[in-house]
Amino acid sequence: MIANRSYDCLVIGAGPGGCTTAALVAEQGFSTLVVERDKMPRFHVGESLMPEAYWIFERLGITHEMDRIGFTRKHGVQFVSAAGKESKPFIFAEHDDRPCNESWHVIRSQFDQLLYDTAFNRGATVVDETRVLDIDIRKQSPHRVTVKSADGKENEITTKVVVDASGQSAMLANRLGLIEHYPDLKKAAIWGYFKGAIRAGGGNPEVTCILHTESKEAWFWYIPLSDGTVSVGLVGDNDFLLKRGGSPQKTFNEEIKNCPAIRRRLQDASMVSKFNVAKEFSYKTTEQAGNGWVLVGDAGGFIDPIYSSGVFLALKSSVMAAEAITEGLHKNNVSAKQLGKWTRDYEGGVDWLRKLVRAFYTNEFSFAEFIKAYPHHGGNLTNLLIGRVFEGNPGRIFEDMDPWIEKAKAGESVGA
Ligand SMILES: Cc1cc2nc3c(=O)[nH]c(=O)nc-3n(C[C@H](O)[C@H](O)[C@H](O)COP(=O)(O)OP(=O)(O)OC[C@H]3O[C@@H](n4cnc5c(N)ncnc54)[C@H](O)[C@@H]3O)c2cc1C
Repeated sequence: MIANRSYDCLVIGAGPGGCTTAALVAEQGFSTLVVERDKMPRFHVGESLMPEAYWIFERLGITHEMDRIGFTRKHGVQFVSAAGKESKPFIFAEHDDRPCNESWHVIRSQFDQLLYDTAFNRGATVVDETRVLDIDIRKQSPHRVTVKSADGKENEITTKVVVDASGQSAMLANRLGLIEHYPDLKKAAIWGYFKGAIRAGGGNPEVTCILHTESKEAWFWYIPLSDGTVSVGLVGDNDFLLKRGGSPQKTFNEEIKNCPAIRRRLQDASMVSKFNVAKEFSYKTTEQAGNGWVLVGDAGGFIDPIYSSGVFLALKSSVMAAEAITEGLHKNNVSAKQLGKWTRDYEGGVDWLRKLVRAFYTNEFSFAEFIKAYPHHGGNLTNLLIGRVFEGNPGRIFEDMDPWIEKAKAGESVGA
């Protein structure tokens, strides 16, 4: 129930980004409203979390809740090559002795509900089944936001700061014309949930598995979840997956035939969901803050599912944005300069992950060969894979990797 007509901070969307921002702004005593169009808890893709998300759960005081709910522990990642070669799993704890060296595979409806409850417990007003219809962004805040609740009633609310955390809807960025798609990352995904699939097997720790298809034109994610199901998703170029004729189900099954390692894992499994499809999910925004407004999480950009960075980046951008918002509200300064204080540092970190994503999609490039030639970059690669991109300089690895990638693209043989 929306009690007031005026708030310090109004957040559009109750995903990980919106709820984290709201929790951290509300706990500073600022009136905060989160408006979610769906009924909570709601389904969402994005189950494998990057280890560095741990620190944000600590900050929110919910680390013990993650284990109480019983989410599957993610111990590492494993890659299966196009030739079917299964890499030794990359176990985080073997490379990092900090407490964040394990992560989780979450069921998003439960995980997002936990964050929703956290925002409420920190003092935010949270309403679901209520849609933001319109945002009247003025030169200076307060801005006006029109919302429509489940009973069909429309209300106009004024707010000093609007946080767009509407995910891929990217409501504000679309209105302000800030979206830039990555032409080289025009991917699509088809996914579903399987019961009876092989999990880690042999008492091995559970990991997120990334499996190339034999043709290397697509890859599968394989994420065991705590309800006994495994999330299995196929990712490839948009046209390759969605414009070849036939249904998404047909494409998914054809590519399973093209990936013996997935076939083996799913041999006794049955699908317990419908097929889901997502496309055109990779983009950035040319600005992430303005006078009285901020974009967090996917609403400010999304790279690609390959390294499971989406939720972590939604959480991280929210922590950084919340610091700028609360400081601004304390100082009565919600200018673009104040609210955008964090965006440069954030983009710097995201940039390293973007480069790593592009390296993955350079088919002729091999991470294994590269690390064999430059073993001292092992630590930098670990830092990138776990999301430790906002401190130190994990990007040093690219001084040596970039020439390899350029040569690989040109079809030249690569070597140190
Ligand atoms: C195929 C695919 C696979 C992925 N796999 C992973 C993974 O394994 N690991 C990972 O970390 N990330 C993954 N991601 C990314 C992850 O799903 C997102 O990065 C993450 O959910 C972003 O969180 P968010 O809070 O920004 O947005 P969301 O979680 O999308 O939340 C936005 C919320 O805003 C609400 N909303 C939208 N419009 C309105 C409106 N007008 N009014 C009110 N509410 C509104 C929506 O209903 C939604 O609840 C994947 C993404 C894709 C596309």
